[in-house]
Amino acid sequence: MRFPFWYPSLMNKTLIRTISIKLDIDGNEAALQETQQQFNAAASWIAALCWEEGITNTNTAHHRVYGETRSRFGLGAQLAVCARAKAVESIKATRSKKGETCPQFGRRGSIRYDARTYRLLSLDRVSLNTLQGRITCRMILGKRQHEMLIDPTWMIGGADLVWKRGTYYLNVTQSKDAPELTETSGTLGVDLGIVQLATDSTGETFSGEQVKAVRKRYHQRRQALQKVGTYSAKRRLKHMSGREKRFQKDTNHRIAKALVYKAVVSRKALALEDLTGIRERTTVQRKNRYERHSWAFSQLRTFISYKAAWTGVEVKLIDPRNTSRTCSQCGHCEKANRQSQASFQCKQCGFCLNADVNAAINISRADVKRPMASVSNG
Ligand SMILES: [Zn+2]
Repeated sequence: MRFPFWYPSLMNKTLIRTISIKLDIDGNEAALQETQQQFNAAASWIAALCWEEGITNTNTAHHRVYGETRSRFGLGAQLAVCARAKAVESIKATRSKKGETCPQFGRRGSIRYDARTYRLLSLDRVSLNTLQGRITCRMILGKRQHEMLIDPTWMIGGADLVWKRGTYYLNVTQSKDAPELTETSGTLGVDLGIVQLATDSTGETFSGEQVKAVRKRYHQRRQALQKVGTYSAKRRLKHMSGREKRFQKDTNHRIAKALVYKAVVSRKALALEDLTGIRERTTVQRKNRYERHSWAFSQLRTFISYKAAWTGVEVKLIDPRNTSRTCSQCGHCEKANRQSQASFQCKQCGFCLNADVNAAINISRADVKRPMASVSNG
């Protein structure tokens, strides 16, 4: 899946968000499709050449490919620049993930637009560069998208034109400076878990029985459909997976919002476990494995981190080792302290507490492993 929609880049304290807008292209299909094809052929060619010659520097790439991109693919000056930008960015991303294959783009791949190749006209019109000159399309805006687009506190940046199942979408990027971090008194620790998706150090939980029931229902239905294995069962599985993802996303948004709101009003920082690599370290009971891995904790953490950044709440990432087996009362650490998924009882001082709450308290006190603000979205 391609991030980021709504994912903030915390580098240089700049927030970035993307609005995905459906377009009414009204008779411009041919121009757009042709441009799409040539643009992506150019981007693929540039990527292959830069990959071959080991070029990752934007300027070097520009001088190497600019003239030839225009003559080979018939792109205008600005679209040629955008094709190079798409290719070089994608090479950088591939290399940073230690990928070994040169990125290539399909003929229906996206077109990158910058300030010189697209322009928002009146409230619902956009003008786009194509090989046949500029064309104008109507943007189909929902109320919320409209409000986001005209919000004067956000600066409008580049856009990607994306083709998805016969429809064109314009993904417009906006950015603004992140607010300064609020001065805080204390830290709200958050434990992300299987039974309760989130529990904080004051003892409040953030998922509830309904979420649990819905997830269980999806799981059972999926297993039943997988057994059937017919064409229509597969199609229904696919539909279901979309609904489940939306449900998960909504739930994560709701939890993140509630947690950040609580941090704001109590003027506290948030602390979360750094779960990078948690799958390798923990053993989970078999029946819980499905839930632990399929429930997107990383999505929840991402949502929390950007909502926090938007409101100036600091997020600390802490070392997750021993947070669930240490006594929050006396500090004694022993595996046997954690009697079950739900309950914690200290072998030394006898202190008893809900296991998630005990972990959340430990998290709220732990030393910071590294501040969230140093994490980039690269
Ligand atoms: Zn104790």
